[in-house]
Amino acid sequence: MGVQCFLVTATDRCKRWLRRYVSSSRATCPGGMGYHNAMVYLDTVVRPYDDVQHCWPLAPSSGVDRSDPRWPAKCEGCDYIFTADDQWQDFTRQIYRDAVTGKEYTLDEQIPGMMWYADWMGESYLGPDGHCLCVVCPGGGEWMIDGPASNCTMKEDRGPYATHHRCWVRTGEPPTVTVGKAGRTCAAGGGSIQARDYHGFLQNGVFT
Ligand SMILES: [Zn+2]
Ligand SMILES: [Zn+2]
Repeated sequence: MGVQCFLVTATDRCKRWLRRYVSSSRATCPGGMGYHNAMVYLDTVVRPYDDVQHCWPLAPSSGVDRSDPRWPAKCEGCDYIFTADDQWQDFTRQIYRDAVTGKEYTLDEQIPGMMWYADWMGESYLGPDGHCLCVVCPGGGEWMIDGPASNCTMKEDRGPYATHHRCWVRTGEPPTVTVGKAGRTCAAGGGSIQARDYHGFLQNGVFT
């Protein structure tokens, strides 16, 4: 049942949606999100990564007037009708591309095996190739491979890869990655990952 990993890398484009929602403290919703929420896809705009600040800059405002009929009127989870006082948001997500298949994704699609670099996390989170590698496990849980394990036994030893340990040690070129404990590491786990209802290993780019 092995899940094969695939690497997606950021494009300089992001998708925008027109979103209405009500914060959960004000109202509950029987739908899956627990609060009233609705989004309508608007368009795709250029937004390059900021290599100096190491972050995604704010996307340009949609400028869509609140009287525009494209704003969702009704909650996607129930029959609630939004009022003028509820939240109005330009919702944006960067587009990532799999160079092998040419398919495009956003990270919140959370497809098992999808792997990407979260380099904005900073140097304590970068691995041997200078990237912070993340992946979606079978079952949907997200795993920051170069990040700290919750049961790390050397929590004070976090810093640049060259001088500090990693809770998981990875080898291989993403997405063909093997993760274990062979290297400068702590006593947490045995190189396996526990995420939601999944517990297993990542070897040669395949979840066991
Ligand atoms: Zn609702
Ligand atoms: Zn550790």
